[in-house]
Amino acid sequence: MQEKGTQCQDRQEKLCYIYLMSEDNFNSTAITNGLNTRFIGQNVLYYPILTSTMEIARQQAIKKALEGTAVIAVRQTRGKGRLNRTWLSPEGNISMSIILYPAKKHLPFLTILASLAVLHSIEDSTGLKCQLKWPNDVLINGKKVSGILLESQAKTDNVVYATIGFGINVNMKLKDYPEITSIATSLSDELGKTTSRLALIRNLFTEVEELYLKLQSGQSLLDEWQERLITLGKNIHVRSGEAIFEGIAESVAEDGGLLLRCSDGNLMKFMAGDVTLR
Ligand code: ATP
Repeated sequence: MQEKGTQCQDRQEKLCYIYLMSEDNFNSTAITNGLNTRFIGQNVLYYPILTSTMEIARQQAIKKALEGTAVIAVRQTRGKGRLNRTWLSPEGNISMSIILYPAKKHLPFLTILASLAVLHSIEDSTGLKCQLKWPNDVLINGKKVSGILLESQAKTDNVVYATIGFGINVNMKLKDYPEITSIATSLSDELGKTTSRLALIRNLFTEVEELYLKLQSGQSLLDEWQERLITLGKNIHVRSGEAIFEGIAESVAEDGGLLLRCSDGNLMKFMAGDVTLR
């Protein structure tokens, strides 16, 4: 039997680490065993290492994997952020994508759903208080603890698939990552001790399912999402391509777009896929 950290050849990657048993018994059996959901997380594809869980999730979704299938990597070598940015995903964190086949009208609400699910599961599992930054970040004390990425393929009147990527900094020591130390945090840095990924991920499955069923039954997630958005009411800069717009983040539109009141009085709407806030 190889020890944690032993280098070996792998089909996915030239170099990988065999990661047999982690500190909190974080493996697919433990993740799904007795899980109290109908479909989210009932099928788990678990990898010691991946370039990105989004790639495997996309391949699986094209092959019509079961709805709610979760692709989990102990660590990612090319974790993806929005707009082709990198998401650092060392082991000890949660790197996961969930496959859904939503109605087209629900597609704009999946990032909202995912960020609320992360917020609820962190607050329930740790007692820490979270905030949301429009459109896709979960923060603790103003620093990013989780990022969410939505990818989808849609036709004129239906969605072929949607994959939601979750990156959660659970046991990452931010002092080891100077490039993001000033903007990011982790649950273990906040709590001063390691945190169980297992409890958090199982909680997250329950939250995702609850909110997804809510959406399907016609309920809106916008009110709670707006209440938790710290972006609103602030003076912000919105970068869209080469252009930068400044104004007050006034509110969100019915489709989750951000409404910016510019200094000339105009109201501009920005959608999540296109812009960066500074
Ligand atoms: P903005 O805040 O400008 O709107 P964003 O937060 O939406 O951007 P994302 O695509 O969600 O950006 O995340 C990618 C960015 O997050 C990276 O460019 C980097 O600055 C930062 N980052 C990368 N890895 C992590 C991590 N593990 N934890 C927190 N932040 C990270």
